[in-house]
This record gives sequence, C-alpha cells and structure tokens, in this order.
Amino acid sequence: MQAKHPEPAQTLHRWLLSVVNACCRFWRRAGLAACFGAGIVLLAGSFFLASAQAQNGNGAAPVIARAIHLVEGDTTETLAIIVDLSEETALRHEVITGPDRLVIDLERTIVAAGAQRVSGKLLPPIGALRAGLFMAGHSRIVVDLARPVLVERTDFVRQGGVARLVVQLRVTSAEAFLAQARLDSARRAANRAARPAPPAEGKADPRPLIVIDPGHGGIDPGASGPKGEAEKDIVLAVGRNLRARLERSGKIRVVMTREDDRFISLNERMSFARSREAALFVSLHADSLAGEPDVRGASVYTLSDRASDAAAARAAEKENRADLIAGLDADEEAKGGIETILVDLARRETRAFAQIAARQTVSALGNARLHKTPMRAAGFRVLRAPDMPSILIELGYLSNPADLAGLMDDQTRGGLVSALAEALEAFVLTTRAPETAGTGQPGVAPGQESSGSRP
Ligand SMILES: [Zn+2]
Repeated sequence: MQAKHPEPAQTLHRWLLSVVNACCRFWRRAGLAACFGAGIVLLAGSFFLASAQAQNGNGAAPVIARAIHLVEGDTTETLAIIVDLSEETALRHEVITGPDRLVIDLERTIVAAGAQRVSGKLLPPIGALRAGLFMAGHSRIVVDLARPVLVERTDFVRQGGVARLVVQLRVTSAEAFLAQARLDSARRAANRAARPAPPAEGKADPRPLIVIDPGHGGIDPGASGPKGEAEKDIVLAVGRNLRARLERSGKIRVVMTREDDRFISLNERMSFARSREAALFVSLHADSLAGEPDVRGASVYTLSDRASDAAAARAAEKENRADLIAGLDADEEAKGGIETILVDLARRETRAFAQIAARQTVSALGNARLHKTPMRAAGFRVLRAPDMPSILIELGYLSNPADLAGLMDDQTRGGLVSALAEALEAFVLTTRAPETAGTGQPGVAPGQESSGSRP
C-alpha cells in the first residue's frame, strides 16, 4: 500500500517558505530582525523535516499521523479508532494479554506531537491510548483495554488531503480475545525465529567496551517533569554527552543502545550489550515522585532479587513497566533474552563487579549530587545479564526543581557527565573482566562488596 501522493515533507517545506515570505512582507518596515527571525523558523522547520526523514531510515518521506480520535458505533458493543494520516500506509494489528491491549503498527509513520494521545473523550472499552515511534521509521498505537475488543476491519477513507484510517472494533468475549492473543503470539514467535541474528561487531578492537543505555524512547516517554520534560529526552542527551566524554581518551570503546527517539525493549537493550561483550552496561534514567518535590539526587542501582528498600523496589517496578507501555507481551519478554540456566558462580562474580562499578560511580559523583541513600539494589530487568557487570543510574528527580534544572542546564550536566565518565573509565580500565578473573592477570579482584550509603 505504497502511496504516490505529494510528499508531505515537500508540502511542509513549501508551507514554511510561504510563512517566511509572508512574515518578511508584513515586517518589511520593521527591519531585518524580523526576517532573521523568520529565517530561524525556516531553519528549525527544515531541521524537523531532516530529522523526520532520518528517523524514517530509508530516505523516503514519512507518513505523518496528525490526530487520533474515537467514534461510537451503532451499538454499545462497537466503536472505531480514527487515525488521520498524511497518506495511506501498511499496517498490522494484534492483541496481547497481561494486561489486555490492542496494538496497531503503522509502517514508515511518525506521530505528530498532538497525536500521541486521543483528541476528545475515551470510550468505555478503552482504558487509555498512546502513540509514538516504536522502531526506526515505524510507529505504534497501544490501546489499553478495559473490556476485551477485537478489530473487525480496517479501511482507509480519503478526505481532502487526509488519508483517514478507520479501525472498527467490537466488544468480544474473554475466550475469543484469548484465542486471538494466542494466534498473535504464535505469529510473533515464528517471525522472531525467522529473523537472522545480528552480526557481532568490533571484536577485533581490544579496547574495553562500555554500552550506554539511555532508558525509554519512542512511544515510552518515561517519567516527566512539570512542564512535560521527558525522561527519554534527558537521558538521551546525557548519554550522548557521556559517550563523547568517554571517547576522548581513546582508551575505551563506547556504543549506545539507542541514539535517537526510538523504543527498545528491556531484553533488546541487554542482548545488544551482551552480544558485543561489553565490559560494563550502564542504563541511564531519571525518576519523578508525585507529591515529593524535596526528594532529590542521583542513585546508582545494582541487581538484587530483594530490593534494598521500598523506594528502590518502586523504582524497579516503574522502570520494568517500559515493555508493557510499549505494547509488548510480558510473558514472552520474561522468557526471551537470557538463558534459563545461569552459572551461579559467574553471576555472583558479575554482581560483585557491578558493585565495584556502582561504588566507584557513587564515590565520583560526590555528596552534593547524590540521593541520601545513593547506592541501592532492586530487581531491574535490564540488569539481569549473568555475564556482564550492569548498573542503572537514576540521575535525579524530574519532580525536584533543582535536579531538573541541573539536568536541563548544559554546564551542570557537563559536571555530572565528567564525574560519571571518570568513574566508568576507571572501572573498565582497572578491573578485570569476569571471564578473565582467576587467570592471574593484573586487576582488582572482586571482593564481597556490600551495598552501603554515602561514602
Ligand atoms: Zn526510567
């Protein structure tokens, strides 16, 4: 269903040009400043288009989803999801249990900022709806269901310059929903099995590798600040700064699990780093606590089956919800990504190394930047790798004005990034990798480190 309509990027570009021309005519007597301002508008618009095209991956102009709304059907058992698109595109839909959700994937589509939620009211079978980038150039709509519904049919209706996608839904029985969910799950499993394994990279380079994992992305924004500041954007910016700072010495390699605003599952993040034999995996996050604006500071987490305190357990529970938010099946995700048979000893050793990395990071950050209990442990799914030291850093709280201002300010962030980089670099350069431990190579032996509070 590839369309041949005028490319929306060109249309937008023409529109931006006409805006600039109109501004210049209107403000001619006001002097050059206004034209300069209009030029900035054009530049910003062109940048948006360029990044939209880059995200699309294949160079073709993306389809833009401009609005999503719900329409009641003839009976209380029927309703439709309407998606206004710039042109027709290929789509796929499936249902998932635990919790019950409907997922609609739109190929080569980017969701406009105003279309990430339903405009207008939600209808009873629908608990919530969100839309956003799921992988490069492809977007996803996730519908949380209060009652089981199935898709009856999908159609495109052209209205002026809009290709209106109509997804007709009907309330169904729990049994029929479960049966469809099982079919969809089997199809996903077959697709996964048919997918070739990605080639391993960078093995010839002997320098240790740090994998930086900016949390969330795409359809999953993570925590948010009072003015809509999104965790996914903040941790991506910190991740980029951290990579640049770490690469400066030339002694270590750095790769990131994501370099743009896309969703990656928790398993994929971990597998990405394991397949590259990372010496250290660092997941970056920022938290937000409603009604607790005074809680502030960075915390460094390691994996533990038993959380070090109730707040740590809550943080892990929140971060582990990322896959559910993006419409993935929790059971399938729990099964994938890691072998079920773990060598206990290797795991204990890996954890000891992670404790060293966490302790060094806490020490480098300094008391001024830290939470009152800065070194903590909980059951973060992204830290489960048995053979790769993994830590998760909650950089601060978006609900605390000082933390938020610091994370948004280039200079303050630069100080944080420098401190982090020194600690992480020291860890990978001075600590033996788990697989070489016990071979007599120089390095720090993993002691039985225990989690503590401020150094
Ligand atoms: Zn997070």
